Amino acid sequence: MVDIENGQCGKCEHYGQNESSSQIIEIRIKGTAPDGFTSVCGHPRNAGIHLSVSANSGCDGFTPAEAA
Ligand code: SF4
Repeated sequence: MVDIENGQCGKCEHYGQNESSSQIIEIRIKGTAPDGFTSVCGHPRNAGIHLSVSANSGCDGFTPAEAA
């Protein structure tokens, strides 16, 4: 498992934003993700290119998710 810090994708509202996945919610709440887990970033700047990122990646577009 990978630990997710505040400021990383797994705690960002854009992580998996355009997918309906209960696993994304679980990652936010638990603060951990399975090794190698990736999901699509829904940030407006990245959505068009379908950027896929690890739960412990990050960028300046981070926006705290409500369930984080
Ligand atoms: S790449 Fe940036 S905007 Fe996208 S989910 Fe990660 S922190 Fe959020």
